[in-house]
Amino acid sequence: MQKVISFPHMGNYHIPIEILLRMVFKEHIVMTAPKITKKTLEIGSRHSPDFVCVPFKYNLGNFIEALDKGANVLIQSGGGCRYGYYAEIQELILKDLGYEFEFIKLIGGDLSPVNLYRNCKRIGTTLSFHRFLYCFLLIIKMVRLIDETEAYIRENIGFEVKQNSFDKLHGEFFEELKTVRNFSRLHNIRKKYSCLFRSIEIKKPPNCLKVGVVGELYTIMEPFCNYFLEKELAQNNIQVSRYITVTFLLFEKTRRTKKTLKAAGKYLKYTIGADGTDSVERSKTLAERGYDGIIHLKPFGCMPEVNAMPMLQNISKDYKIPILYFSFDSQTSETGVRTRLEAFYDMLIMKKEFER
Ligand code: SF4
Repeated sequence: MQKVISFPHMGNYHIPIEILLRMVFKEHIVMTAPKITKKTLEIGSRHSPDFVCVPFKYNLGNFIEALDKGANVLIQSGGGCRYGYYAEIQELILKDLGYEFEFIKLIGGDLSPVNLYRNCKRIGTTLSFHRFLYCFLLIIKMVRLIDETEAYIRENIGFEVKQNSFDKLHGEFFEELKTVRNFSRLHNIRKKYSCLFRSIEIKKPPNCLKVGVVGELYTIMEPFCNYFLEKELAQNNIQVSRYITVTFLLFEKTRRTKKTLKAAGKYLKYTIGADGTDSVERSKTLAERGYDGIIHLKPFGCMPEVNAMPMLQNISKDYKIPILYFSFDSQTSETGVRTRLEAFYDMLIMKKEFER
């Protein structure tokens, strides 16, 4: 039977993942799950345990929509925290619903190329290990480029002179990335777009409002889950910074654990799991760097981030930096998010004027 491979969404990362899977599984069909909509969350929530964290519901919704479109191999990455158990539970739920498919936990706790290759062999790749390694390294480099590019966009899009310049170029950038199959093409795109993005005219005052976004990885990186919060901030001429990206999670987080704990200073003695330690350390760093405000995002019931909140409140008090807390679930009201966000940046503007 023809295999149709699918996987869940997170931000724009479906683009490099799809390219990787197409290169690795040439004889199979690769299908990105349909774009996330309200319906995705509705379907996912309907079949999820009520108490489970919201990324589980989004992923399950993605899987159901992909299965309904013909997917018969589902890939879940797996990882730390409760996320490490998503795959097993989602597989049970989907099988109970009557779907027939193969479910692969691609990474688990082991991101080594050898482990990934082993799992890809299970699905049926015919590539040699050396060729697989080439594709893997190419995609890692592409992810780095996406993260660097989007960091620049995030910090500057709020100040573009001609509306839509960044969004338009961002779209073109991804269209060209989709054609990448080797390092030299990727290198050329990097050079081209680095110049193009930097040539977009911006009017950024030196004392513009700066807001840092911290919190749980999925709610930060999947814009649908946070109601396009970064875009909303940018529309109000705010520079937005965040450090959680796939590059950070794969290559910096574990290596930096000791450093992060040390940098968190008196606010943390021990690590508190998942992204909680990073949220505390980063909030302290943002406060020390003179940011005007911080936004903390988490799924409802996310224990590592709940644990981080008392320290964030202390940082807010000590450094006199306002922190806005959002907790997302399938019941979150979009209007509520917008209203709180508007009140937050009105308050930041008043605070800045008052301090002048
Ligand atoms: S970090 Fe939070 S959202 Fe992610 S799996 Fe753990 S509890 Fe759930």
